[in-house]
Amino acid sequence: MRIAVYSTKPYDRKALEAANERFGHELTFLEARLQENTAALAEGHDAVCAFVNDQIGTEVVHKLADQGVELLTLRSAGFNHVDIDTAAERGITVVRVPAYSPYAVAEHTVGLMIGVNRRLHRAYNRVRDGNFALEGLLGFDLRSKRVGIIGTGKIGQITARILRGFGCSLRAYDPYPNDEVRDYGVRYVDLDTLFAECDVITLHCPLTPDTHHIIDEEALSKMRDGVMIVNTSRGPLVDTVAVIEGLKSGKIGNLALDVYEEEGDLFFEDLSDKVITDDVFSRLLTFPNVLITAHQAFFTQEALSNIGETTLGNASAYERGDRSGNELTPENIRPNRPVAVGGGDDHGEPGEPGEPAEHGEHGEHDHGHHEG
Ligand code: NAD
Repeated sequence: MRIAVYSTKPYDRKALEAANERFGHELTFLEARLQENTAALAEGHDAVCAFVNDQIGTEVVHKLADQGVELLTLRSAGFNHVDIDTAAERGITVVRVPAYSPYAVAEHTVGLMIGVNRRLHRAYNRVRDGNFALEGLLGFDLRSKRVGIIGTGKIGQITARILRGFGCSLRAYDPYPNDEVRDYGVRYVDLDTLFAECDVITLHCPLTPDTHHIIDEEALSKMRDGVMIVNTSRGPLVDTVAVIEGLKSGKIGNLALDVYEEEGDLFFEDLSDKVITDDVFSRLLTFPNVLITAHQAFFTQEALSNIGETTLGNASAYERGDRSGNELTPENIRPNRPVAVGGGDDHGEPGEPGEPAEHGEHGEHDHGHHEG
């Protein structure tokens, strides 16, 4: 197929070219992001390949269909940036990469938790500057802390398994609870209970009308003082203005983000020579207890290679008239049901099953939280 690849970075090109040795598609690499004023670049292509910050709303879908594009092959798992209904109406098949490496995202999530908790971002700079003082770097043991996982799909499940190894006490909220997750010692609770009980809250649900601003002023008011919030899922799950207020008041003790509501204007680009005009984002950067990475949770060698293989494999299946199983249709995107993590590369779970002791050696909440 002739495929126009939008938002291409050198690492995308490398991974797609490597995968394409097997598939033999005709790839046109475009640095431009797909949006209304760049949709015309797809002229003469059968398919378009897009990433998370491409804007594939109603107008763009119409423009692509008008040019004869038949297939939209996403290099992402998330598809909140695509008007699936209009694509279906206009006869464009939409396919995605449902699981390129949930391990990559889960591992980064836990990395962020530890990084912000132990202030590794500050420690790194201090040591380089000859400042070996510890003041301001005080963290807490993750062991025995209550961690609330919102969304126990592929990434949420793996995050749970890793955190079980740390000895955390795990809670979860998901409208579609999964028995396998209970086996990792996770207790499903309603959202308000999760907010009220947890020391750490990590987001692994998709962005939908239901989950937009799932962390807002009201949600924060139900949480423990000093709560840690981690978002590696999608920016608009968190109301950024509300969390800034929460950071100012001390309600939020730690915030770690890999995604941001308005990241489309910032992330994936080197803007170090430019003036950042997003005052909300700039305010976030001023807090010592905030750690932000720029949507890099997926960014491992394994994930890039899987993305290349699945993206182009999806196109080949479409070309042959087969179904890849990765199609997104108005019917199958609602509701977003959980998917069990395959055991293929899983070499077993360290540690004992079951929930860790609620009151460990040093007490469950020995970093200043109160039972609530
Ligand atoms: P998944 O579909 O396997 O799991 C999503 C889970 O969320 C499901 O169990 C679903 O039932 C649950 N859910 C749906 N609505 C919910 C709600 N209202 N409240 C709580 N849970 C709800 O998806 P996944 O592969 O685990 O990915 C999760 C999210 O991670 C994706 O939607 C994507 O936005 C994000 N992601 C981020 C990166 C990154 O690089 N930062 C990479 C990949 C995916």
